Amino acid sequence: MEQDFRIVIDNLPAVLFKGYLDGSIDLFDRKVESFTGYAKEEFESRRLKWTDLILEEDLERFKEDFIQALKAGDAYVREFRIKNKQGGIVWISERSHIIRDEQGKAAYITGLFFDITEKKRLEEELRQTEEEFRIVIDNIPAVLAKGYLDGAVDTYDRKIEYLTGYSKGEFDSHRLKWTDLIVAEDRDEAKHIFVQALKGDKTYMREYRIKHQRGDVIWVHERGQIICDPEGQVQYISGFIFDITDRKELEATVAEQNAQLKEANERLLVWSKELEQRNIEISLLGQMGELLQSCNTIEEAYIAIKQSLQQLFPYDSGALYIFNPSRTMVEATAVWGEALPAEMVVAPDECWALRRGRPHGAVEIRAGFKCRHVDPENEAYICVPLVAHGEAIGMFHVLLGSPDPAQAGIKQELAGRVSEYLGLALAKLKLQETLQRLSIRDPLTGLFNRRYLEECIERELRRAERQGKQVGVIMVDIDHFKRFNDTFGHEAGDALLREMGAFLQRHIRGNDIACRYGGEEFTLILRDVTTERTVERAEKLREAAQQLRVLHGQGFLEPITLSLGVAMFPGDGTTPLAILQAADLALYRAKQAGRDRVCLAGTD
Ligand code: GH3
Ligand code: MG
Ligand code: MG
Repeated sequence: MEQDFRIVIDNLPAVLFKGYLDGSIDLFDRKVESFTGYAKEEFESRRLKWTDLILEEDLERFKEDFIQALKAGDAYVREFRIKNKQGGIVWISERSHIIRDEQGKAAYITGLFFDITEKKRLEEELRQTEEEFRIVIDNIPAVLAKGYLDGAVDTYDRKIEYLTGYSKGEFDSHRLKWTDLIVAEDRDEAKHIFVQALKGDKTYMREYRIKHQRGDVIWVHERGQIICDPEGQVQYISGFIFDITDRKELEATVAEQNAQLKEANERLLVWSKELEQRNIEISLLGQMGELLQSCNTIEEAYIAIKQSLQQLFPYDSGALYIFNPSRTMVEATAVWGEALPAEMVVAPDECWALRRGRPHGAVEIRAGFKCRHVDPENEAYICVPLVAHGEAIGMFHVLLGSPDPAQAGIKQELAGRVSEYLGLALAKLKLQETLQRLSIRDPLTGLFNRRYLEECIERELRRAERQGKQVGVIMVDIDHFKRFNDTFGHEAGDALLREMGAFLQRHIRGNDIACRYGGEEFTLILRDVTTERTVERAEKLREAAQQLRVLHGQGFLEPITLSLGVAMFPGDGTTPLAILQAADLALYRAKQAGRDRVCLAGTD
């Protein structure tokens, strides 16, 4: 029996002891030595009490547990730490029973000490791991949730409250389902993704919007894994839910910025195209200016203007209107483009540009002021008054091919510049023509022109009449001048005409008048002369002309001959017309008679 007991005690993974109220113990084997590092004898000699080993911090509770056991049933279990001889901490679990004497007083304790240090270490590790896990969960910027097919969720922390504005309890009780929060428009798509995952590898990601309790919308990203039982039935879904509202807003901002950037790029493209167009326009304007410079008459200018306008406004139509001499109307002079202007003649009060003396375009038309000379259907047009030296000379009208308001502004600006050019160019030409008309000299020969001749012959005849004197008229014509032109060219013909001018000038006296009557015909008026004297002078001219040598280009032109007709005032006629006709007739007879000769009027 003693033997059996011994074996049990030795194999017990605990220290069997007998303890006393003063804290000392008796032991049954040496196992205590491996616990504490102290020899069995040290305890038995009472040099060392068990309670001496207990950690200061645990002592209070150690005693408290014992007092409790005394009150309630004598058997107790308590845990505490001791400090072993090496200074190490050992966790002890004690299971003991109080043994009482006959009076019922506690006599001693019999019990077991278990070394639970390892168990405590593992427990602590687990606790730490759990705590770490919690820290991780708490710090994940996401709601970790366990979801069910009916849309309910369980969560592990309160983050769902920040995300949704609803309490964790509402979700945990399944009164509130997660799926209830998803905004209606996003539900189908979210469900579709889930169903696809269910058919596939059971993992999914989806982004959708939920409605926060405050009423605003939160964008969430959810990644989940569907957990199934071995039969393939869905048990739950383990997932993370992230708040991606910021990202979505950023995405939206970026998208907006991209759109703005794209727009800016497109605008830039449009601008550079416009700039290109402006450059073309500037060079076209320059060309038009040059073209107009080289025009001698207004009619020529209208043709050049029409061509230039066609190039400057290729997609538009329009007309250049010029005031008639009485300034009661403007008339279309140069018209270009596919659409003909509604009115070719416009009264000043039918056009706002003419009435107000300033450009009339989109802004004015939008304000309700439409010109009466424009088709009522047509809202896209521009009228610009043509002004030169402060005086209105007409109106420039453009019917726009496109109603694009941005284009209209550009076109109006161009129309403004074009009309400035046109106004000045036309004014200059008009002035030139007027000056030419007013001028008394023929520019090629330097002789007086026919207009002057007609004016002065009148005067001369009247004067001669008053003074009772005669006036000689010699009509001179170059023989076969057409042939000369054809053989040597028009320029040579001009050179000859120029030379004739100088030749005649040399052969008249100071009070004679030499005119270019037209083409290669010249008229000489000799004051106070006799018929003989006039014929003699004509004859001298004829002879001298034969000697005339005209230098042109590399050499001399062929010699020429002249035919001349002579008429006398008042003998051959008393009016300018009659006397000129008489001289002309005499010239005609000289030609008839074989040229290179002088004929006197009235001498058949
Ligand atoms: P005819 O002997 O019968 O006078 O013969 P013609 O060839 O001289 O006369 P016609 O009237 O048939 O031709 C006149 C020519 O003069 C025709 C025209 O080309 C030329 N002419 C007229 N004005 C000018 C001018 O300013 N410069 C040049 N180069 N030629 C001119
Ligand atoms: Mg002639
Ligand atoms: Mg001739």
